[in-house]
Amino acid sequence: MLKKWVYLFEEGNAEMKALLGGKGANLAEMTNIGLPVPQGFTVTTEVCTEYYNQSEKLSDEIITQIDKSLVILEAKTEKQFGNKENPLLVSVRSGAKFSMPGMMDTILNLGLNDETVAGIAKITKNERFAFDSYRRFIQMFGDVVQEIPKAEFDKILEDAKHKNSYKDDTQLTTDDLKEIVVAYKKIIKDETGKDFPMDPKDQLLMAIEAVFRSWNNKRAISYRNMNDIPHDIGTAVNVQSMVYGNMGDDSGTGVAFTRNPATGQNKLFGEFLINAQGEDVVAGIRTPKNIDDLKDIMPEVYKQFHETAALLENHYKDMQDIEFTIEKGKLYMLQTRTGKRTAAAALCAAVDMVKEDLITKEEAILRLDPLSLDQLLHPTFETEALKNAELLATGLPASPGAATGKVYFTAEAVCTAAANGEETILVRKETSPEDIEGMYAANGILTARGGMTSHAAVVARGMGKCCVAGCEAIKVDEAAKQFVIGGQVFKEGDYISLNGSTGKVYKGSIKTVTPELSGHFGEIMAWADEFRTLTIRTNADTPNDASVAVRFGAEGIGLCRTEHMFFDEKRLPSVRRMILAESKEQREKALAEILPMQKGDFIGIYKAMEGRPVTVRLLDPPLHEFLPKEARDIELLAADLGISNEDMVEVIHGLEEFNPMLGHRGCRLAITFPEIAEMQIRAIMEAAIEVKEKYNFDVVPEIMIPLVGIKEEFTYLDKIVRDIAELVKVEKKSDIKYLVGTMIEIPRATLIADQIAETAEFFSFGTNDLTQMTYGFSRDDAGSFITDYKEKGILTNDPFQSIDVEGVGSLVQTASILGRQTKPELKMGVCGEHGGDPKSIYFFHSIGLNYVSCSPFRVPIARLAAAQAALGK
Ligand code: PEP
Ligand code: MG
Repeated sequence: MLKKWVYLFEEGNAEMKALLGGKGANLAEMTNIGLPVPQGFTVTTEVCTEYYNQSEKLSDEIITQIDKSLVILEAKTEKQFGNKENPLLVSVRSGAKFSMPGMMDTILNLGLNDETVAGIAKITKNERFAFDSYRRFIQMFGDVVQEIPKAEFDKILEDAKHKNSYKDDTQLTTDDLKEIVVAYKKIIKDETGKDFPMDPKDQLLMAIEAVFRSWNNKRAISYRNMNDIPHDIGTAVNVQSMVYGNMGDDSGTGVAFTRNPATGQNKLFGEFLINAQGEDVVAGIRTPKNIDDLKDIMPEVYKQFHETAALLENHYKDMQDIEFTIEKGKLYMLQTRTGKRTAAAALCAAVDMVKEDLITKEEAILRLDPLSLDQLLHPTFETEALKNAELLATGLPASPGAATGKVYFTAEAVCTAAANGEETILVRKETSPEDIEGMYAANGILTARGGMTSHAAVVARGMGKCCVAGCEAIKVDEAAKQFVIGGQVFKEGDYISLNGSTGKVYKGSIKTVTPELSGHFGEIMAWADEFRTLTIRTNADTPNDASVAVRFGAEGIGLCRTEHMFFDEKRLPSVRRMILAESKEQREKALAEILPMQKGDFIGIYKAMEGRPVTVRLLDPPLHEFLPKEARDIELLAADLGISNEDMVEVIHGLEEFNPMLGHRGCRLAITFPEIAEMQIRAIMEAAIEVKEKYNFDVVPEIMIPLVGIKEEFTYLDKIVRDIAELVKVEKKSDIKYLVGTMIEIPRATLIADQIAETAEFFSFGTNDLTQMTYGFSRDDAGSFITDYKEKGILTNDPFQSIDVEGVGSLVQTASILGRQTKPELKMGVCGEHGGDPKSIYFFHSIGLNYVSCSPFRVPIARLAAAQAALGK
């Protein structure tokens, strides 16, 4: 049997997106459920591939199949291609498997020529309409098919308007349009050396080929690169009989969503224009009317559209984005597709649809993008604090959330201030791509110019960062480092606050609060928890982070990095004395100063976690990280320790390493200086016993040894941990339980995991270091070349963001298998950054790990991703 290259709409269905493209498959589906779709056929995506395989030629067989479909279309519409009395006109549109809006080409009114134009004039009793359509067709054909610059056609049109002193295209008379048609045809003759093709069949084949060529135009290629769409799947072409929304006041065209795409509210949302064609709505030449108004203007059509929209949503079981045209009071459906929506709308619609029995909870969970939840987790202003705030101006609410900080006028200044721990707001006239790092570092962004789709708005939304754009009331003087609002001057370092959800700009600093996870969010999370089997923990080093994470649903701490506590300004002097001690006694003295502070930290964290498990890691970074780098700070430290500056410099120098990441860090520190570990173990145990007794929380501390690569490293330190822990238990007369485990973050450890599991009670995969050491890429420096690797197709993903399943993932899997060979009940989780990345979470679930641990704001994302993993994503 011959291969089928062309499908009539009634021969396809919604499942055939790969072959018919999204648009073609949905047109077929709508046709088959009996909706009023203008008749037509789809030339498949395989024809596109074949076209390229055959050096950009359509084979005779393909042309024959197109001809046959055309004959059927003529019979159905009772019109004929090229017929003077009753001509068939068609649109020719692209449509790939994945939606690529506006990236490829479309041709309307195909079939018009010097003879059929008269037929159309006669049928519509509107000669002007016929010639306007004709000149539009020649222009589109010349531009898209024959690649003649659009400007040449525009010039003719502008000249005609100018000559007659018209303001609008609508003032052009039939005679003007006839002259324009002649002029347009001349451009084509001059540019191509041939007459404008009068045979509609020639027009059609040329148009189909042009759509195939547009698959590989520059913007389509970059769109596919940006959206991970394969380049070899090709586009289909839909040939559909034309309907006209511009045939008078009983005609029109519009676009509508079955629910509100911004909020998810279950109410038809859309716009339409009377007496207009599709492009007029998109181009924004006239202001469209709200879809609700159609009820008054054309009640019958509105009723039919409303019912059809409901039917489509019910049929597809998802929010639809629908294009329609009304031709002389008759409704036609031109397209339906899944509607793009905000994260809030996605959540709201998913929950509502479960309640409406439209979809199951499983479908609701699988349909959401975990990463998009990030947009909903942003802070808001404290209500009380906001009452006293002075409103300065209102701009556009470009990206939601609340932010407060000191103003800075360059990305660089923001980065420096943010690195010093300051809260910052980047204020710019408008942002450009060079500002990206500053935008990332800032708490919020304020621009004087630019709309909702300006660079600042688009980038900020992508980052989930609060942004107020186009706030024209502010006068920014970047050179003078100041801005003025209503006579008030704000200089670099002054505080302001932004509400990116309302566009409001306030004077001074306003306290922000983290959002409550209630309503739709809470419901989705609760459903996710029903399905997931992975436990979600958090990486938290402070009681505050721990409480935020618990509110987001964290079930424990998977990694508490104790070094962050050592950097605290108040304890840094003791830490430095400890590092620079010349004897064990001196070191123990300094450690004794640190002990109560560490214990205090742990008490706070255990309290915040209310009995949930807490994994505390012993000190990890190389010690020189705690020593000063600036000359002035070195002098001060020397004075504090009572030694000469030269000696101080020498000691610091002595601690420097060529490759600190591969140097004296992790468990190696505890092996050289067991007293540091001893102090930490004591603090962990004493704090746990105190909180357990005082608050009756069931605290079971999990003490974790970092960077183990040799079995004996672990057994050596395991003994120290247990000796001290037991000693504290005796001292405090406590029977508290505790666990001792290890990070698995050195490739060697993954290969001897069975040996380590003989003593270790849990494994926590440090996939940051494991990625670093497996690739041999420095995690601090790889950023500079990973972009090149991605651009050159050597890497598809940054392995520090999403787990490299084949390499690093395989090591994790090996370790998990070996570990469980020795100890079937061994608890295993991940605490590297990958613990908050949905794709990585799917993988960790698939190899049977027990938990992932991620930063507090990632916890909801991880909960949803873990549920999706359990549901087979
Ligand atoms: C890791 O290496 O994955 C890890 C969690 O530890 P850190 O990032 O502190 O080195
Ligand atoms: Mg590590």
